[in-house]
Amino acid sequence: DVKQGAKGTLGIYQERLTRAAQRRLSLGLRLREALERQMPEDAPPRDGALSVAYQPQIGRDGRLYGLEALARWTDPELGQISPAEFIPLAEDHGLIDRLGRFMLRRACRDGAGWLAAGLDPGRISVNVSALQMRTPGLERRVARVLKETGFPPRALQLELTETVFLGRESEVLPIFEKLKALGVRLAVDDFGTGYSSLSFLPQLPWDTLKIDRSFVALAVGDPRRRALVTSITAMAKGLDLTVIAEGVEAPEQHVMLQEIGCDVFQGFLFARPMPSNAVPAFCAGIGPGDPPALAR
Ligand code: C2E
Ligand code: MG
Ligand code: MG
Ligand code: MG
Repeated sequence: DVKQGAKGTLGIYQERLTRAAQRRLSLGLRLREALERQMPEDAPPRDGALSVAYQPQIGRDGRLYGLEALARWTDPELGQISPAEFIPLAEDHGLIDRLGRFMLRRACRDGAGWLAAGLDPGRISVNVSALQMRTPGLERRVARVLKETGFPPRALQLELTETVFLGRESEVLPIFEKLKALGVRLAVDDFGTGYSSLSFLPQLPWDTLKIDRSFVALAVGDPRRRALVTSITAMAKGLDLTVIAEGVEAPEQHVMLQEIGCDVFQGFLFARPMPSNAVPAFCAGIGPGDPPALAR
């Protein structure tokens, strides 16, 4: 008994909903297959498999501070899928732990390989989702991967968003402490976007704070937003944290962030995320001497 017009609108709406739901379902199944094909985690990449891209992070001296490992997935039929789409999907389908394990092992293995070849990639950062953080045995798994790959714990940094803390204060601290005991560094990612109370910062043993790119993007030419980045940086320094600015795209942003006192810069201005086989040439180019793209 829906009216004719309304029925039409409803029909289109339902069709759209169905298509979105179908894509999610199909992507979920494909992601599961991709992860299964990928097992063991250090199997050579195959068609439709997941891979790791590395985005350089540059220090104030223009030298390489480290690399952030970012998940990449190209489906043979659907093409490249963005992590913004498949990470939440992995969480919903109970696959995030497996994906996280793959990323960790691959990143540590790549890092150890570069070190063995006489190339220092600095710290390698791996993103850990809040859900993954709460799977029991995380620290044991991290310890095992470090031992098996030979990657130095001090060179591994785990990036967590502040949502990890929401309502889980007592649960999360012991996990953080165990990870710290391994020697691993901990970074708060996308800082300022999670609506959490600031008290989570001093309560957990963070080493690094990453200012979200939404602040960086708008700070040039906007004194109020610049004031925000300045305050975040000052606060982080007060807590003895390394400050990384995310999403640095323009030279003016780099200059401003340097003036403010940020320690490390990451963004398209310096380099986009690159496949692992492009890392050695980038590191060689940025080594002692004159870094490319970094004249200023
Ligand atoms: P994130 O951890 O904050 O990673 C930084 C994102 O910003 C990356 O997007 C990177 O490509 C992008 N980016 C870097 N510089 C710039 C810039 O100058 N401008 C702009 N517009 N973007 C820039 P990506 O690779 O698409 O990843 C998106 C998000 O997906 C990540 O944000 C992270 O939250 C999540 N993610 C990616 N890989 C993993 C993973 O292995 N595990 C988990 N749990 N999450 C991951
Ligand atoms: Mg990150
Ligand atoms: Mg981030
Ligand atoms: Mg982000």
